[in-house]
Amino acid sequence: MSILQVTKDGVFGEGSHEFGGSYVPEQLGRALEKLNEAFEKYKDDQAFEMELQYYLKEYVGRPNPLYFAERLTNKLGGAKIYLKREDLNHTGAHKINNTIGQVLLAKRMNAKRIIAETGAGQHGVATATVCALFNIPCTIYMGEVDIQRQALNVFRMQILGAEVVAAKSGNRTLKEAVDEALADFAENYDNTFYLLGSCVGPHPFPLMVRHFQSIIGREAKTQILNKEGRLPDVITACVGGGSNAVGLFYPFVDDLEVKMVGVEPAGKGIETGFHAAPLSTGKPDIIHGFKCYVMDKAEQCHSIAAGLDYPGVGPEHSYYKQIGRAEYVSVNDEEALNAFLTLSKLEGIIPALESSHAVAYAMKLAPTMSKDQIMIVNLSGRGDKDVTQVFEMMQMNEFKSMSEIGK
Ligand SMILES: *Cc1c(COP(=O)(O)O)cnc(C)c1O
Repeated sequence: MSILQVTKDGVFGEGSHEFGGSYVPEQLGRALEKLNEAFEKYKDDQAFEMELQYYLKEYVGRPNPLYFAERLTNKLGGAKIYLKREDLNHTGAHKINNTIGQVLLAKRMNAKRIIAETGAGQHGVATATVCALFNIPCTIYMGEVDIQRQALNVFRMQILGAEVVAAKSGNRTLKEAVDEALADFAENYDNTFYLLGSCVGPHPFPLMVRHFQSIIGREAKTQILNKEGRLPDVITACVGGGSNAVGLFYPFVDDLEVKMVGVEPAGKGIETGFHAAPLSTGKPDIIHGFKCYVMDKAEQCHSIAAGLDYPGVGPEHSYYKQIGRAEYVSVNDEEALNAFLTLSKLEGIIPALESSHAVAYAMKLAPTMSKDQIMIVNLSGRGDKDVTQVFEMMQMNEFKSMSEIGK
């Protein structure tokens, strides 16, 4: 029996230690029920699985490598570090695994339009991409503030044929974009599919997103067994909503000798209140229709990596934390930026600022481990999208490690 206990209603754990579930108005509940029925029907369907595998191979470019980072390993002088190269996927990150899976489900459900939320724009781009591929009209909800901050990603979505709609309530960022997408879905679910971007939200989204992202861990497991003949000692990934992490972790959950570590953004420092680390600092609460660890409302959701700043987190991670199956740590902006520059220079791989959090943690942990130990780091995405931001920060001289560029 698996150590992971989850009910058919998507509730992890029990009693006062429950996470996940679905706390939504009646009409949205009906939309989610219909979605769950379709997911249950197709997730183990052979024709569906074959079509999914076809697109993952031919369009996304899977399997991507599990790369031995030899220079990084030698420099740190401890555990062998392997990088799972999600950055090499089409569109440059793990998000496409999930959007391909969900768009195929939307097609099976005869959806006439697809909607999605986006914060920094990465999930919006991944959704607009698969909607172009399958010729389905696409509407992306994005906070008005984020639209101004991420003009190029908005333009990318428009090039791909999507309509971007501004969420104008509240703080006008990701939270409001999710609220508006959920409202649209509740209203129009007879012809509309809501393609959610991480393992968060009401049931069945966390289980569905995990299903489509676990290809990461399944591949990594086969690859490490081929290369090393054994399982890794540690696997690690950054945690925003938690989908790239749960995708890596889930296939290892019952291999208790494999330590799983999720890395949250400590932003300007946990003590400053400017961070996005609900697992490190938050309390169980309800957000967007599900129960998970949520940041204190007095704190400001912030990270150098826009893709990590969500005030809640996936229910499965909340549960892993509670039962002690995974450990959650945090890495601040400066450490992430330092890892971004280090990996670029040592391996010729520019990681996404999100993924740089996992690399930064590996740089702390590896030297404390022995040379015959093995660590897998999920490189969730590539850093091309972040180069302008890093350039601007360099002009402002915000960080010490910047002075290393060009030396
Ligand atoms: C969106 C994003 C993340 C954070 O999302 P998760 O659901 O936590 O995986 C991490 N890395 C990259 C490259 C992303 O685009």
